[in-house]
Amino acid sequence: MSYIYESYDVVVVGAGHAGCEAALACARLGLNTIIFTISMDSIAMMPCNPNIGGTSKGHLVREIDALGGEMGKNIDKTYIQSKMLNESKGPAVHSLRAQADKQEYSKSMRSIMENTQFLTLKQAEIVEIIADHNKITGVKTFSGAIYPCRAVILCTGTYLNARCIYGETINKTGPNGLQAAIHLTDSLKSLGIEMYRFKTGTPARIDKRSIDFSKMEEQVGDEVVVPFSFTTDPSTLNKEQVSCWLTYTNEKTHEIIKANIHRSPLYGGEIKGTGPRYCPSIEDKVVKFADKERHQVFIEPEGNYTNEMYIAGMSSSLPEDVQYQMYRSVAGLENAKIVRNAYAIEYDCINPMQLKPSLEFKMVDGLFSGGQFNGSSGYEEAAAQGLMAGINAAMKLLGKEPIVLDRSEAYIGVLIDDLVTKETHEPYRMMTSRAEYRLLLRQDNADLRLTKIGYKIGLISEIRYQSLLSKEYKIEQEMKRLQNTLIGANKEVQELLIKADSSPLNTGTTLADLIRRPELCYELLKEIDKDRPELPFDVIEQVNINIKYDGYIKRQLHQVEQFRKLENKRIPVELDYNSVPSLRIEAKQKLTKFQPVSIGQASRISGVSPADISVLLVYLTQFHASKVKEGEE
Ligand SMILES: Cc1cc2nc3c(=O)[nH]c(=O)nc-3n(C[C@H](O)[C@H](O)[C@H](O)COP(=O)(O)OP(=O)(O)OC[C@H]3O[C@@H](n4cnc5c(N)ncnc54)[C@H](O)[C@@H]3O)c2cc1C
Repeated sequence: MSYIYESYDVVVVGAGHAGCEAALACARLGLNTIIFTISMDSIAMMPCNPNIGGTSKGHLVREIDALGGEMGKNIDKTYIQSKMLNESKGPAVHSLRAQADKQEYSKSMRSIMENTQFLTLKQAEIVEIIADHNKITGVKTFSGAIYPCRAVILCTGTYLNARCIYGETINKTGPNGLQAAIHLTDSLKSLGIEMYRFKTGTPARIDKRSIDFSKMEEQVGDEVVVPFSFTTDPSTLNKEQVSCWLTYTNEKTHEIIKANIHRSPLYGGEIKGTGPRYCPSIEDKVVKFADKERHQVFIEPEGNYTNEMYIAGMSSSLPEDVQYQMYRSVAGLENAKIVRNAYAIEYDCINPMQLKPSLEFKMVDGLFSGGQFNGSSGYEEAAAQGLMAGINAAMKLLGKEPIVLDRSEAYIGVLIDDLVTKETHEPYRMMTSRAEYRLLLRQDNADLRLTKIGYKIGLISEIRYQSLLSKEYKIEQEMKRLQNTLIGANKEVQELLIKADSSPLNTGTTLADLIRRPELCYELLKEIDKDRPELPFDVIEQVNINIKYDGYIKRQLHQVEQFRKLENKRIPVELDYNSVPSLRIEAKQKLTKFQPVSIGQASRISGVSPADISVLLVYLTQFHASKVKEGEE
């Protein structure tokens, strides 16, 4: 029996990492928002790895924070170990990663959600999306309640028609035995939405008391913890940290897996969903990298509240008895007590090429989506999309232009552009190698790149905006000072250069020129830089990088100029590709199906060649010229 319940501006389906960011963005922009979840006890649940960040994912978290999202603040409050990765490499790949107390992370996010104005939380399964002539009008729950609304954001993660599998054991549940969502896929298909079937996997959880850590290498956190959020005071982060541990698989482990590969649902064909190439199961690693004698295994605590340890690097869907043998063959796990078995999960998601760069569906007005449901994998990728889907649903209802970050502005721009432009047939995971302009898209300057946009959207407060402007001003002033401060080749300077193993000066130079030397940096010149102002760490960090990488940055900025020229060449929606002479058939088909918004986006569609782009550019010039002649432009 159906009945109309109360109406909302925005309905968010799913309170995972994507849904939370989407709902908070809409509510904080003043829209009356309701978020649905299968279980109120699984808000921002981390069903897999107990950490946030890492290479390229740390960049996403910083960008979410710079735009006014929540993930960065939440992990700063609930982290149990923190490390800056790749510090020995260039700043483009420096990446923060923090182990989270999973329970505290979820509880903290729930508390934020429950105390946000204009945000209502509801435990119920959404079974139908209601649309009138392909325009959103509401949603329906399993119990028949209809919630009228003007926009819906789908963030259903790994729950749609989920199946959890290990060996011959198959449970039609979501992660951690939670109820799966088994009705919504049909409703989406009836709206003409194309669905995919993906898969991912997780390792076993082992009781800490059954592990012999003396056979492993301890991995400790950083002494000085750097926050994810630009709003977190670093001095509030000092606390006792837990350790992770490193061990390895070995020949015996690999033998056990090979001897039982015929019982693997992955290799036996039971699992139909496509898995993430860059997060392979241990059986995949042993089969595909047979030459490798051992694989790294990181033992990571799930939180301070539990003895459960996450066995990173050994996700699997092998039968339970094989799991026991396999884990117990690893040094330090000989007496392992498995608390939760490893398993694979299959679930429905969409082909993200059905989405506009704003994450709105092309065929359903007012329907947006984010997270794993869009074919990505990872908490950070999910949260980034959720935030943008939330922002753009709000922009739509507020009658404003959508916010689309391009590939030269943010990793979030790369993530969404890759998803909606390039065919992905497996869960998409962010990597620094995917970002052409990664020297500009560093985690350390996410606020300088994005906080002004967050302010324009309305998610960044005036105080925070003013503090960003003051930071920018300090960086600018200090850069100018260093470029204009001449240093003579005097005794003190020469002694410092010798001490730093740097070649002595023949004549005077500027402080900036000295900082450019690989063996020198801003901090090292303190002694000879008498008029140096007192500056915060993050300003010094920018000054150092801007001076040291000046040449590379300028080169990349030039590349961005070229990129933007094509990005700004918008393609009129009414353009009929079939009427473009000498455009190849494959390109006509792909462009007609996909309807790119710009020449830049068209150039990234697989099957559209550079020659097709040249043809299109010429045709567009004639197209606009004829429009001008007809007085229509
Ligand atoms: C077993 C497993 C292994 C994983 N392994 C990895 C990995 O190795 N690497 C990696 O990067 N990521 C991995 N992940 C993925 C990671 O968990 C997700 O990327 C992340 O949680 C996605 O966030 P999300 O917000 O999109 O969805 P989720 O966190 O899955 O949240 C979905 C939300 O939607 C709700 N929901 C779903 N359907 C409905 C409905 N019809 N009505 C109401 N509510 C609904 C659920 O209750 C939940 O709140 C794994 C996930 C699982 C489950």
